Amino acid sequence: MKVLITAGPTREALDPVRYLSNRSSGKMGYALAEAARDAGHDVVLITGPVSLAAPDKVQVVRVESAEQMFEAVRTHLGDCDAAIFAAAVADYRPAEVAPQKIKKAADELVLRLVRTPDILGSARSVFGFAGVLVGFAAETTDLIVHAQEKCSRKSCDLIVANDVSQPGIGFDSSDNAVTLCFADGTVQPIAQASKMMIAREIMTVVERLQKHRDSGRS
Ligand code: C5P
Repeated sequence: MKVLITAGPTREALDPVRYLSNRSSGKMGYALAEAARDAGHDVVLITGPVSLAAPDKVQVVRVESAEQMFEAVRTHLGDCDAAIFAAAVADYRPAEVAPQKIKKAADELVLRLVRTPDILGSARSVFGFAGVLVGFAAETTDLIVHAQEKCSRKSCDLIVANDVSQPGIGFDSSDNAVTLCFADGTVQPIAQASKMMIAREIMTVVERLQKHRDSGRS
């Protein structure tokens, strides 16, 4: 099958030299891209700026902002059978991008932020994607409740829930521990392991979901 994966943070420009971003390293998304490739799938990896080497034999599309990631997903989603949105997309961007570097002047500087497009939330409703849809949920409280709510609101088949308040896992770590929350309400924990091991397990689940979708269609 052909799999689209988003990874890494986005950068939302403030002026020509400054941006708002987050701590995402891209490790989970890149591990997913490698696991999908190793399982014999074609992979399009749409990645925000990270310091990881591009995986071999994967089509890599580099973007910076949420808006650019949205457009890249729109371009590539059409012929994919599964999409895994592991990127930590900024929810807000500065309302205006200053054309020149903002000079320091007053003691206070107030930034006005506006919402970025919800890429995962647009997959079905805007892009009409009919393949297997997987999102990630990084939460610090009520992990499963939030993940299940997100799963139904964004019409996903699966949300991979990530407790980012736990030390040693999640953002920028090599390890992760996640709970898979399926559309039918079932949950399946995956114990702490390397992101590569977790990525392989997620890919096995995605393959199963895809077979299930295919048999439902025929
Ligand atoms: O709603 P929340 O941002 O917590 O959802 C997280 C999931 O949605 C992740 O899979 C992330 O990649 C995706 N997402 C997105 N576009 C956004 C925000 C989040 O694709 N603007």
